Amino acid sequence: MGRVAVKTRSNRRKTAADGLTVLKAASLTELEWVIHGFSTRTGGVSKAYGGNSLNLGVTEQDTAEAVERNREIFLKRLGAANGRKLWPTAPMHQIHSAVIHRVDAVAEKTLQGDGLITNVSGLLLTVRTADCVPVLLADGKKRVIGAFHAGWRGTLARIVEKGVGEMRRQFGSDPGDMVAAIGPCIHACCYEVSDDFREKFRTQFAYADDLFEEVFDSNSLHLKYPLLFLNQRAPGHGDAASKLHLNLVEANRRQLLDSGLAEKNIWMSELCTSCRTDVLFSHRAEFGQTGRMLAAIGIRG
Ligand SMILES: [Zn+2]
Repeated sequence: MGRVAVKTRSNRRKTAADGLTVLKAASLTELEWVIHGFSTRTGGVSKAYGGNSLNLGVTEQDTAEAVERNREIFLKRLGAANGRKLWPTAPMHQIHSAVIHRVDAVAEKTLQGDGLITNVSGLLLTVRTADCVPVLLADGKKRVIGAFHAGWRGTLARIVEKGVGEMRRQFGSDPGDMVAAIGPCIHACCYEVSDDFREKFRTQFAYADDLFEEVFDSNSLHLKYPLLFLNQRAPGHGDAASKLHLNLVEANRRQLLDSGLAEKNIWMSELCTSCRTDVLFSHRAEFGQTGRMLAAIGIRG
């Protein structure tokens, strides 16, 4: 008598899309003409960052083949495909600027900038991040969308405010009709910056002081051995054990509000990339040896 095959729980072959998690913003999910999503680390075929991961940017550690396959997996999950044909994306080399491009058709050459806007369906707008802030926008009335990459430089240069402005100027969008989604990025908890950042932001924003937090450093010698330092601190001087942290999520939320968006129309992911390297890529937490995530938005055909 032959051996009886043991029936496994599922005979289906494990595919690369298993374990794939794409984050969705409630604000954008309500618009049935929009497809969107924020990729995470999970799922995919990259081997460069531990296990299988969904790296969506060409890096020194990963292969171009893995990135291409991951892209296909991600776009299919989003619904950015007509049959087997994936929607085109506008290739953009990100330069931490406030440069925004209106995309009416897919350009042959790679654009330089950090923002993309369109009202054309069947095109996917994407920005790549691994700590920086991805912001997606949609005008529910005029059916216009935008995708923006805001690191500290782009935030300081007001890329998101300029993005709303470009949507107004180019398509007559009313910010009151817009919904926004701020994706996973490095949060204030993990974003320590040097003291000169406060001055940089003060030159640009009246509310700059609201964007910074003084975080007491629990690892500091000052805390462990207070008596050692007690006599060395001049009266009235700041606590040397505190560190300055910048809140980029709040900075971009303020820009959206200043641009005229309603507070209720702004969705924010609660996930900090640096805290959650189990599910997200973080440039800072992983010392640059990490993958890239995509924030994507498109208009259904
Ligand atoms: Zn954090």
